[in-house]
Amino acid sequence: MPDFTAHAHPVLAVPCPDCRAAAGAWCKRPSGHRAADFHQSRKVAADAAFIAKHGERATIHRTENGWMIGIAEASQQMEMRL
Ligand SMILES: [Zn+2]
Repeated sequence: MPDFTAHAHPVLAVPCPDCRAAAGAWCKRPSGHRAADFHQSRKVAADAAFIAKHGERATIHRTENGWMIGIAEASQQMEMRL
């Protein structure tokens, strides 16, 4: 199971289906340089994996001590998770 709190960004918990970057590695441009942002397909994969592991109401946010997983209030369920 991916660990969404172990990396600098939660999306890093899953490998990229697009550029084949491994879990923990940043997305790469075709040139091999580090991409400025994650590929959209990886964000989608991370969101799906996050819901599968933590449930529909789980949220993740950055704190002083790293990433924290919580449960959204009813009014916040539609917010983006990642
Ligand atoms: Zn990628």
